[in-house]
Amino acid sequence: LTVGVLSERDSHEHRVALDPSACGRLVHSEMAVLVESDCGLDAGFPDHAYEAAGATIATRSGVIADCDVLASLSFPPRAVTDQLVAGQTIIGLLDPLNSLDRVGPLAEQGLTLVALELLPRTLSRAQAMDALSSQSSAAGYRAAIVAAEKFGRYLPMMITASGTAIPAKVIVIGTGVAGLQAIATTKRLGAVVTGYDVREASRMEVESLGAKFLTSSVAAGTGEGGYARPMTTEEQSTQQQELAAALAAFDIIITTAKVPGRTPPLLVSAETLTTLKPGTVCVDLGASDKGGNVFGSIDGSTTTTTSGVVVVGAGNLAADLPASASQMYGKNITAVIEALAPMGAITIDPTDEIHASLVASHDGIVTNPVLRAAMK
Ligand code: NAD
Repeated sequence: LTVGVLSERDSHEHRVALDPSACGRLVHSEMAVLVESDCGLDAGFPDHAYEAAGATIATRSGVIADCDVLASLSFPPRAVTDQLVAGQTIIGLLDPLNSLDRVGPLAEQGLTLVALELLPRTLSRAQAMDALSSQSSAAGYRAAIVAAEKFGRYLPMMITASGTAIPAKVIVIGTGVAGLQAIATTKRLGAVVTGYDVREASRMEVESLGAKFLTSSVAAGTGEGGYARPMTTEEQSTQQQELAAALAAFDIIITTAKVPGRTPPLLVSAETLTTLKPGTVCVDLGASDKGGNVFGSIDGSTTTTTSGVVVVGAGNLAADLPASASQMYGKNITAVIEALAPMGAITIDPTDEIHASLVASHDGIVTNPVLRAAMK
């Protein structure tokens, strides 16, 4: 089996799908790895590190033509998928529910699409493959660092001869994997931290990190796959109002709320922004081209409102921790390849729960039931 890696070629993307140690593991399992020259440079992995791990450096077109499996971070651009042929496989965070227009035609083209978002994450055997968690963890850590950098005051309490600083008050809205990491990191920096989620189940996790839990009256509970279910319009408005009443007390607001395949819920409204203290920093991990958790946040940009609130649109913060995030992602990808190709060739077993969920398309058709239902 030949696994290929390309440069991601997006100005906001500094990660690479396989780091040299992941290539080394594949080579050890008697696979060949083709790496586009300089694809790991932004993450600190030069070509010679890949060669030392047993990979072969190739041109972009050489990787595309000769790989059986293309390891990718996101959906490869059309210029790449147009060149792929029946029998080749793409593995990555393909965001299939938001890319249905590409999934159908590529299935017909005969490509096997493996979308890491479709992994049944609660199965213990799936945990090594869980790229959503590894990348959310990197993003949550970075959110805390970015917030601290943009905030004009100390995070910890400081008692000095020149005066005393009180600790910053942080609230993390959405306490899944990214949110819990943001809580742990801002606490390590000395802030006083509160977590908020519609899943009451997350209270224990928040409190075990030494943070307070702000109870939501919109107890949505846990929906399918352990995720929050989408809110009704009424619930959204109740939620915005209760948050509006609470948020003015905080100095830093980190939002991570997502519902798979849907537009992120708007939690900090335009009106709420006007009630926040000047200098408050909002870091919005929900930011996307479809909007985010904070009104007006622009993914990849930092803006300041007329009342002096800093809004950081940060939908892809894992990309700003490229070495660690790529190393973790490389482990996830190798675990997926080992599961799908135990004998050295991709062999999909539709009776295996992990195969059946992860694989979006195979043998010319869209196979995943969630995607098939969404396409109707
Ligand atoms: P996510 O990125 O989909 O969402 C982030 C958080 O936002 C979640 O906690 C969600 O409840 C919350 N959220 C969504 N809408 C909200 C709203 N309107 N208001 C406030 N909060 C809102 O979530 P995730 O981090 O990928 O994790 C989702 C769940 O899956 C969690 O329960 C997590 O513990 C669980 N999980 C389990 C495993 C495992 O069992 N191995 C692995 C990963 C995640």
